Amino acid sequence: MTEHYRPTKAVIDLGAIKKNLVAFQQKSGDAQVIAVVKADAYGHGVLAVAKTVIENGVSMLAVATPDEALFLRNEGIETELLVMGATPSSFIPVAQQRNIIVTAVSLEWLSMAAVQLSPDLNELKIHLKVDTGMRRIGIQLDEVDEAFGFIADHDFAFQGIFTHFATADEKDSSLFHEQVHAMNSVIDILEDPSVMVHVSNSAAATMHPELACDAVRIGISLYGIAPSPYVGEEMDFKLYPALSLETEIIHVKQIKTGEGLSYGATYRAEQDEWIATLPIGYADGMLRGLQGQDVLVKGQRVPVVGRICMDQCMIRLSEKLPVGEKVQLIGHQGGQQIFIDEWARRLETIPYEIPCILTKRVPRIYS
Ligand code: PLP
Repeated sequence: MTEHYRPTKAVIDLGAIKKNLVAFQQKSGDAQVIAVVKADAYGHGVLAVAKTVIENGVSMLAVATPDEALFLRNEGIETELLVMGATPSSFIPVAQQRNIIVTAVSLEWLSMAAVQLSPDLNELKIHLKVDTGMRRIGIQLDEVDEAFGFIADHDFAFQGIFTHFATADEKDSSLFHEQVHAMNSVIDILEDPSVMVHVSNSAAATMHPELACDAVRIGISLYGIAPSPYVGEEMDFKLYPALSLETEIIHVKQIKTGEGLSYGATYRAEQDEWIATLPIGYADGMLRGLQGQDVLVKGQRVPVVGRICMDQCMIRLSEKLPVGEKVQLIGHQGGQQIFIDEWARRLETIPYEIPCILTKRVPRIYS
């Protein structure tokens, strides 16, 4: 166990992840939940999350990169692993050896992989990605026939086919329905019923459980975060946010009316003010754009004032408080709460980005 002497930490509630998983398992009927644990489980810590979801019935994890899959294998995770991004030719024998499913992203990729196949190793397990409108990676619709033929003529273990929606979290569903229609036309010509079909991300699984097919790929909402405000409003079940961020006051002083604070001295006290320093800064993911954001102290909202530094930032207190006083940056304190969405709005970004920007320097502690 690494020891931590700085009070700044992200507390991850694995019970919340379990509850969110169960909600999607129930909502998706017979379809299995593929837990999307790329990007260190969206910043929540991939090993602990992987173990939790596996203990609760998940039999496939999805990651973005070959390295993420290998990390899990090297840590002893034996569950099926799907790499959803493109993998280079050098990874093909490794995928065969380590039993890692890779994604066929184009006809060129299939030709490249066919050349790399080692007959002495396990068959290469592939899922075929179809580009139905996201236009990022995937076989084009007019190439699907050729891809099916090519796969049939080579020693691939063709285990799955999937697509990804570009607008499942938006109110305007026109592109979404075009993608569903396109994918249905692909499924219609798929002859092998054992090939697993999966199309839905968190938003689609929430809004369109009827599209669950054989599996749903749940990322953001596994961590208790709605994919967009629209989906959050429409949701007919509760999500439990898994990540909270906390620290403690490490220094307190009073500054006098008119005195400046932090780099640039851009903040000036309008009256004599109690200022506390927190041991968290932009190198932890508390980006400079969060200046003005509230934190919770003694169950009350107080603002971050002055420029956020690399390792520290300052808050304005309404009274003198001692060093060691608990500060909640994300999560609950008293009757108050600050959700990840609030940070996302202030930073003019999506909630997905927030747990991912919390850097390695912030220890993840599990509860
Ligand atoms: N499937 C693919 C291909 C993805 O890239 C992602 C995430 O971006 C997901 C599923 C999970 O999406 P979400 O986090 O919105 O549930």
